[in-house]
Amino acid sequence: MSQFASHGAENAVSFAGGRSPEPRAGILTIPPYIPGSSTIKGFENPVKLASNENAWGCSPLATEAFQKTVDSLFKYPDGGARALRKAISEAYGIRFENIMCGAGSDNLLELAAHGFLNRGDEAIYFKHSFAIYNITTRAAGGVPVRAAQNADLSLSVDALLEAITEKTKLIFIANPDNPTGYILSFHEIERLLASISEKILVVLDEAYYEFADDPAYRTALPLAEKYKNVLVTRTFSKMFGMAGLRVGWGYASAEIIDVFARIRSPFNVSIPAQNAAQAALQDKEWQVQNIRRNLSERKRMENEYTRLGLRFIPSQGNFTLLPFDTQTEAEALVQFLLARGVIIRHMSSNDLPHCLRISVGTEAQNDIFLACLESFIRDGNK
Ligand code: PMP
Repeated sequence: MSQFASHGAENAVSFAGGRSPEPRAGILTIPPYIPGSSTIKGFENPVKLASNENAWGCSPLATEAFQKTVDSLFKYPDGGARALRKAISEAYGIRFENIMCGAGSDNLLELAAHGFLNRGDEAIYFKHSFAIYNITTRAAGGVPVRAAQNADLSLSVDALLEAITEKTKLIFIANPDNPTGYILSFHEIERLLASISEKILVVLDEAYYEFADDPAYRTALPLAEKYKNVLVTRTFSKMFGMAGLRVGWGYASAEIIDVFARIRSPFNVSIPAQNAAQAALQDKEWQVQNIRRNLSERKRMENEYTRLGLRFIPSQGNFTLLPFDTQTEAEALVQFLLARGVIIRHMSSNDLPHCLRISVGTEAQNDIFLACLESFIRDGNK
């Protein structure tokens, strides 16, 4: 089976015969997104540390709210997601009218590309960053431009500024970044916005916002109020532990929200998703506890990497990137762990074939993973 089978993209070859409808130019050159795998043959409950999910699940209040929706499944949801937007507006002290909800924050990233890129317009993002920026730019007919990262893979606003041309229409920044876990400081984001034309839409993707504890890091939400060309995106998939429900949101000027409102699918967030997300927002105690345990396990894992003599990038997300000397070494560890029921993410799809990304798991999952890692380092890779 092809590695793209889960997307149906293995059918792409059938276009060669010219007997099926012809897709828009360029579509078949888009590399399909490859998600982290979830299964290993022979393991009923593999330890999955490959998709930056929240290993502890979601708030029990969210589960309860979800279950209460079983009798309303015949109804359409509120297309304006008003109750959820009100809850978001209250939770973060931001303006209700400027919030738009989506089926995951991916949905908002797609709206940005489809709403603002004309054919041939350029969208800039950091070279090794989140694969959706490339996919959605190309799907919208735009041209992806990959800004350089520093030798240690860290991010610099100057690299973005250097990549700007008269065709630049969009800049995507994951902050914190996936897969490196680096951040750009609030000060640097402000410098970027002050240096560029307001004609360029800057998307600040804060999917991992809650896990950042670097004092230089701050949300860009206030900048979406100050600048008309800023979109901040957030998600319920990571810290809130609701990736399967598909809920995210964006915050931007009335002008940007108006564009999105014209092109989004009218009922993009389901009733269970809207209700569960509202309940999750109310459960402040769970959020505090969940952030604490994620950060404490992240620290424990990174301490172990140090003890075992492994290189890693100290992370501001719920994952850590480990660069190895060679691709062969990185692949050997992936295989060693798979044979023991542990799934991690090889980053070849982000052009980092010598790097592995490992999500933060529960204490029990990490115990298993770290024991396997230690035995690989001690004798497994000989
Ligand atoms: N942005 C980044 C940087 C991500 O890593 C992800 C998830 N992998 C997303 C956005 C999308 O998340 P979702 O659509 O589940 O909100």
